[in-house]
Parts: sequence; C-alpha cells; structure tokens
Amino acid sequence: MDYSERTIEMARLIAENCTSCKRCMKDCLFLQQYCEDPQKLFQQFLEEGLEPIIPYSCMLCGRCTVVCPLQLKLDEAFLAMRQDLIKDGLPLKQLKSVEMHQKLSTSKLFTAVNRGDTK
Ligand code: SF4
Ligand code: SF4
Repeated sequence: MDYSERTIEMARLIAENCTSCKRCMKDCLFLQQYCEDPQKLFQQFLEEGLEPIIPYSCMLCGRCTVVCPLQLKLDEAFLAMRQDLIKDGLPLKQLKSVEMHQKLSTSKLFTAVNRGDTK
C-alpha cells in the first residue's frame, strides 16, 4: 500500500512529538482497543503500515486533539489514511457486502413501487 507523502508527514509529526502521556486515551475506546499509545501506533504505521480496520475505526470526533497538550491531530491522520486506502480500491472486505446491498436495493428487479392503491 502506497500512502501519500501528506499522510506520512502527518503520521511522522505524531510519532515524533507524541509524549505517550495517554490523555487522549482516557475517553477513547478506539485507541484503548487498538494501541498501547498513539506514539507507538503511528510509529508502527511508519514502519509496517496498519490494518485498514484501524484507521476506519476512528470516529473522527476530534476529542483527542482537544485534550492533547500538543494538539496533535490524530483524526486528520486517520482520515488521510482512509482517503489513501479508498484510492487503492476500498480494501475493507466487510464493505463488499454493503456495496452489493446498495446495488441490489436500487435495482429495478428488487424495487417494488407502492403507490398506495388499495382498490
Ligand atoms: S478522533 Fe479518533 S482517536 Fe481521537 S478521540 Fe475521536 S475516536 Fe479517538
Ligand atoms: S494526548 Fe497527545 S501527547 Fe498525549 S498520548 Fe495523546 S497524542 Fe500523545
């Protein structure tokens, strides 16, 4: 997977500056589930990449930036990863069923028109 320079720069900024104080983790179940601390997570991204489920699991709520003493923008970095992943072909296998559902539910074959006629 080739991430953009912009995404890598965002991740590097966090990996190099995060002090692992974990303030952002206190109220974030996503970070609690997926990492020991953001510094390690973004370092891991730079060294070997991350499973797509990780950037896709961030709620993009921005709470981490508000409580971070350095105002590090984890949400923007996760969003940038997602944008790169989408360009690479929607890699989340789980979304394949959603794609099929969208196709079928808008297909004429499976769409009944109910005009409210009772006769
Ligand atoms: S933006 Fe993502 S990482 Fe930050 S607090 Fe919200 S869910 Fe957690
Ligand atoms: S609050 Fe900021 S410095 Fe502290 S662990 Fe989270 S991202 Fe790193």
